[in-house]
Amino acid sequence: MSEAVAIAGPVVFFTGAGMSVSAGLPTYRGAGGLYTNSDLEPPHAGDITIERLPGLWQRFRGRLEAGVELEPTPAHRAIAAFESSLEVAVVTQNVDGLHRRAGSSRVMELHGTLAEVRCLDAGHISPVRGIQWGPDGVPLCPECKAWTRPAVVLFGETLPPDAWRDATRAMSTARTLVAVGTSAEVYPAAGLIASGVCPAETRLWVNPETEPPSGDWTWLQGPADDMLARLVAG
Ligand SMILES: [Zn+2]
Repeated sequence: MSEAVAIAGPVVFFTGAGMSVSAGLPTYRGAGGLYTNSDLEPPHAGDITIERLPGLWQRFRGRLEAGVELEPTPAHRAIAAFESSLEVAVVTQNVDGLHRRAGSSRVMELHGTLAEVRCLDAGHISPVRGIQWGPDGVPLCPECKAWTRPAVVLFGETLPPDAWRDATRAMSTARTLVAVGTSAEVYPAAGLIASGVCPAETRLWVNPETEPPSGDWTWLQGPADDMLARLVAG
């Protein structure tokens, strides 16, 4: 067995698309593989109009229904399991909702989540599971029957302020920072792991291919499932 790596709390796991590869999601640059190469143009803020919303949902529906079937990976479960021994926060760029499904209780989803929809009239948040699709191909709010939109951040939209504030706070007090499966190239999210925002003395970079962005990281080179199995509370 490979050598164990001890981590101290509070620990922040900063996760990107590489986290969910073994769940079946491809790692495209962007928010958790949301914007695939086959899109003619990525969905953006201007798609949230009465005229364009049915078209947006046409493009999202397959991904959304595929996401409902995805199961958390061993890496997601390993992170959730640390909550029994350490103070843990998860800051994720992914929209697949798998950290919550794995049991992590403190998750900041910087790019929102495909696991939920938000209604246009009152802002009600509802789970995708069991959602009712209207005749125009747009899911209807279970509470008020208004049209809904995906609860993800589209290009041209700002990140959710609550998630951003909570993430910044968690970063500022972390003793250990573990970046998993991210190339840390998508801003502003990537700025959260800069040493000025997160001064954690232990900085672990879990990635099979992409090198750490600077010399103050320890590179655990390999797939997330394998590398996270080596971490132990200590
Ligand atoms: Zn509603």
